[in-house]
Amino acid sequence: MESAISPFLHQALDRLGVSDEMRHLMITPYREVKFGLPLVCHEGGLKLYTGFRVQHNHSRGPFKGGLRFHPDVDLAHFRDLASVMTWKCALVDIPFGGAKGGINCNPHELNSSELEVLTKRFVDRLDEMLGPDRDIPAPDMGTSPREMAWIMEAHSKDHGYEPGIVTGKPIQLGGSPGRLAATGRGVALVTCWACEKLGIEVQGARIAIQGFGNVGSHAAKFLHDFGAKVVAISNRQSGFYQGHGLDIPGIIKSRNESDDDLTLQQIDFSAEEISNEELLALDVDILIPAAVEATIHQDNVDQLRTRLIVEAANLPVTAEADATLQERGIPVIPDLLANAGGVIVSYLEWVQNRQRYSWKESEVNNKLESTLHNAWKQLTESAESTGSSRREAAYTIGTRRVKEAIELRGF
Ligand code: GLU
Repeated sequence: MESAISPFLHQALDRLGVSDEMRHLMITPYREVKFGLPLVCHEGGLKLYTGFRVQHNHSRGPFKGGLRFHPDVDLAHFRDLASVMTWKCALVDIPFGGAKGGINCNPHELNSSELEVLTKRFVDRLDEMLGPDRDIPAPDMGTSPREMAWIMEAHSKDHGYEPGIVTGKPIQLGGSPGRLAATGRGVALVTCWACEKLGIEVQGARIAIQGFGNVGSHAAKFLHDFGAKVVAISNRQSGFYQGHGLDIPGIIKSRNESDDDLTLQQIDFSAEEISNEELLALDVDILIPAAVEATIHQDNVDQLRTRLIVEAANLPVTAEADATLQERGIPVIPDLLANAGGVIVSYLEWVQNRQRYSWKESEVNNKLESTLHNAWKQLTESAESTGSSRREAAYTIGTRRVKEAIELRGF
């Protein structure tokens, strides 16, 4: 599989003028593991899953990054996503490196006790690789605070009470107020700052959001609160469009109550059912891909009719599509900044855990906003002074900071 991040990364390393050896060091993961995870299923019968963890770089702090439970994941996938975490943490200047991992399972096909066994076995197998100063997992696609609680329990069994082993935990176990909504909150804040810069009025702006999981739904909620009109949302199966704006709080409420995937009944019978491809091609002010990688690619980029793209997902735009967007003059707020709210509040959770002290949600949200805003300012200044795209500026800042840390620590 072709690496999705490599063109962005190679260009950044070209701009930094690194040696071949340094390039190799910065691209190659520190360590990657892949292992079998057997599970005796409820109805009897053995299933064999595969667990993965890629630790990309830890020159600026412990490895950090989410766990994805999804049937299609593989090592190449996690290699890219771990690398994204390294540059993201460096860009927003939090003292973490990058990692990513998970299991190739479909969490919707397993019951809670099966998932618990699988998650705890995953932690057992990683054993000494994890730790609050080594590698700190967090939620990603297919995982939630529930799995983080199991991770904390599995780790504590051998290492004693240490909530800082994992972030995105339930509040009752030392999770941070504001963590669940943090990625979506960050997406909404960055969208507002970008709109201000580009002269787009947030009040009444027409927004389409692809993906309505934790990130997409929270981004929709905050943008709706800021007065924007979320005209389309989608999940894996289908999308929904309502020209005068969807009732986002109502949709979130009924989805939370039914714990089901989105259906037209929950949404609004007057809404039109559309495909994911149709959603991407809608005539809107802002398009927010909040699902998986490479949803905007060479074959659909010409159909886009938006004034701004905000990347709530990791790597949702391929390198070819990114070049076309630059030619077409459609600004992109890159994933490294746009979805960094999650890992920023993960950092704040880890700090609270290490101090055995917790902050009020307002304090966490203020710290999130100022950290993200600093990064936004640095990125904007860098893009403007060098005439580069915001993505190029994000990678330049991230890679420069990691390179400096590697050099200062010595080889
Ligand atoms: N999975 C999230 C991301 O891709 C959060 C990772 C974390 O908090 O460690 O940024």
